[in-house]
Amino acid sequence: MTTAVSHIDDLAAALQAATTSPVLRPHHPGYTEALPGFNLALHHRPDLVLVAQSAADVALTVEMAEARGIRVTAMGAGHGALAAQEGGIAVVTSGLAGVTLDADAKTARVSAGTTWQQVMDAVTPAGLAPLAGSSPLVGVVGYLLGGGLGPVARTFGYAADHVRSIELVDGRGRVLVADAETEPELFWALRGGKAGLGIVTSVTVDLFPVSTLYAGGLYFAAPDIATVMHGWLDWGRTIPETVSTGCCEYTCFLKANMDCLASRQMHSAAEAAFIAQACENHSGKNL
Ligand SMILES: Cc1cc2nc3c(=O)[nH]c(=O)nc-3n(C[C@H](O)[C@H](O)[C@H](O)COP(=O)(O)OP(=O)(O)OC[C@H]3O[C@@H](n4cnc5c(N)ncnc54)[C@H](O)[C@@H]3O)c2cc1C
Repeated sequence: MTTAVSHIDDLAAALQAATTSPVLRPHHPGYTEALPGFNLALHHRPDLVLVAQSAADVALTVEMAEARGIRVTAMGAGHGALAAQEGGIAVVTSGLAGVTLDADAKTARVSAGTTWQQVMDAVTPAGLAPLAGSSPLVGVVGYLLGGGLGPVARTFGYAADHVRSIELVDGRGRVLVADAETEPELFWALRGGKAGLGIVTSVTVDLFPVSTLYAGGLYFAAPDIATVMHGWLDWGRTIPETVSTGCCEYTCFLKANMDCLASRQMHSAAEAAFIAQACENHSGKNL
């Protein structure tokens, strides 16, 4: 539902005066480009976008929005969007992105808005690896909030179980740090509870000395799904417990995105390459 225009204009003016982050309304240049666009079938239409530049600006935004009764939603890399956002405020976190490596402690502090590719670029030169997911373009925070089951999950477990601490802005606009000792229940709920418990501004995660990884993907035509599923189940019974494997159906997602390719600008060359490659690999070509 769209919020009353005067309320939003009032909030936009207050945020512009109090923060250093770009504040964008739908008629402003850069509004569309600021929104993450991995799922091109969705067209987000928030009343206001804050392209966050600091945790303090996120906190101020939540506090001011809460005082006016306006909904605030966090946006990461956009890989988890299942419905278009209509109205309210979107806090886009890509402007916060960054990684600080502590090689001795084998940890990395990762800001919201960072993708797994950015973490890998920062930590692999030190011989360390994060518990990333299958796509390097997925957002770290969105991934961890959902638990995070990646290609090495049966060796190391859920990525969320290797989070040391989480910094977030709660519903009142307070900046909190949750870990095993401080706010332990919030810390537990955040690691798998997905969205709605606050806006995460950074996480500190464990890194692992992984030197070798055998991995890959196979794509099959949709009509072969029954054969593939039975074959995959049989094969799964033969592999060691440290081997991770998954099976998913991409057809609907790819079709939706193919339909949009011609009409909407991709937000990055990497996204375009990923979808184009996936479509090419989809041997059925019946999208
Ligand atoms: C190609 C692809 C591969 C994937 N591979 C894997 C995989 O191997 N393993 C796995 O477990 N999952 C996987 N996923 C699922 C993925 O982890 C989730 O969709 C995740 O939520 C994506 O996060 P995002 O930041 O990219 O998405 P977004 O759509 O930006 O965010 C997803 C959700 O998290 C919330 N959120 C984002 N940032 C914040 C924040 N800073 N604070 C609070 N809430 C926030 C958003 O509000 C939204 O509800 C994959 C998804 C795709 C599309």
